[in-house]
This record gives sequence, C-alpha cells and structure tokens, in this order.
Amino acid sequence: MYHIMRRAVIHLIPLPCACCGDPVVHSAEPLCAGCWGALHLAASPKRIQISFAGDGTAWLPYGTPTVKRCMAAIKFRGLDTLAVALGRVMAQNLARPTVDALVPIPLAASRLYVRGYNQAERLAHGLHQVWGIPLASDLLIRPNAGWFTPKQSARSEADRSKIYGAYDVRDRERWAGARLALVDDTFTTGSTLNAAAEVCIKKAKVAEVIPLTLAYTARRAT
Ligand SMILES: [Zn+2]
Repeated sequence: MYHIMRRAVIHLIPLPCACCGDPVVHSAEPLCAGCWGALHLAASPKRIQISFAGDGTAWLPYGTPTVKRCMAAIKFRGLDTLAVALGRVMAQNLARPTVDALVPIPLAASRLYVRGYNQAERLAHGLHQVWGIPLASDLLIRPNAGWFTPKQSARSEADRSKIYGAYDVRDRERWAGARLALVDDTFTTGSTLNAAAEVCIKKAKVAEVIPLTLAYTARRAT
C-alpha cells in the first residue's frame, strides 16, 4: 500500500532527495542536483569477470557515501523510482552492449513481497529505456526460493559458492543462441551472477552472457 500511496503523491508535492534529504524542486527527479553531481564524480566503470560470462561492466564504487546511500534507498527504503533513474543514467554513461535482452537477477519471493519490487528489474528497466534493448524480466526464475531463503549477505563465502541450482531459465528453447546481459545491483563476489550465467549457458544454450551491475565493492572488481 505504501508503494501505491507514494506513487500517488509523487506527482503532487516535491519530495526530498532520496540520498541527502534536501528538497528536490522538480518532483520527477529522485535526487538533488548535488547528489547527481556526486554520483557522476564517483562513477568509475570497472571491468568485471566471472567464469561463465564474457567481460562485463560495473559502474559505481560502493564505498562512496553517495553511492552507499543510493543503494540503501533502492534496496531498503522503497525507492524503486531511484533504481529506474540510476539505470537510465548508467545507460547514458556506458557503451550500449550488443545483446538480445536485458535479464535482471530475480529476487527471492519473500523479499519481493516485502520490498514490493525487484531492484535489479527496476535498474534493468532504466537501462532498457535508454538503450532500447528488450527487457526479459521473467527469463530467470528461482525454482527453490521459498519464504525462508537466507539473505545473501548472511551467507558465508562457502555457501555462496554452492548456489548453482538457485536459478533456472523459463522457455529454455527460446533463448538458444541468444546474447544476454545479466543485470544486478551490486557486484561483490560475482557468485550470484556466475550461477545465473552458468544456467543460461548450460541449460538454455545461450551463446553469450555479460554481467552489468550498478555498483561494485572494491574487493573483487578488477
Ligand atoms: Zn541530495
């Protein structure tokens, strides 16, 4: 209900900047000019590499305060419009990949219910708006993701390495030979993206997968 009400008032009154709280005069913008500027200054695209995918790109370093606050806003404060806006700006600042579809990493059903949206899907929607690449939001599914799936952040490194099998591809035959960009909010160890890429390659016979993420943690990006 909160999400519906917020959408209703967003066009009526100026809302505070989703990052710093300063008033945003133009209510269609989720961030103030200062925070947009800080994001552009922070932006430092990095090449990301995982075993089952070609070289991908991550756009923002997670350690920057403005980036951290934006990521928290799209993951924990219900600001799906910010995720779409960040996707649009990311697309404007990166080379358009030669792929047939943008594929967001799906959320577990329990977190989708709590959050009301999948931030990776909203981000991919923003990329789609600028690049015009079709969005295939239902391509990846989580067949075993029930209500009690532990949070990624709560898992150990060993657990993260065992997540192959967490994903599957709907309409596998349809995607044979396709080139896909897998979209997620943050690149950390790459294990989630790699599990999804492996399923696409092995089960759906996809020709190529590249990962795209909004942010990256410093530890693993090269
Ligand atoms: Zn701001």
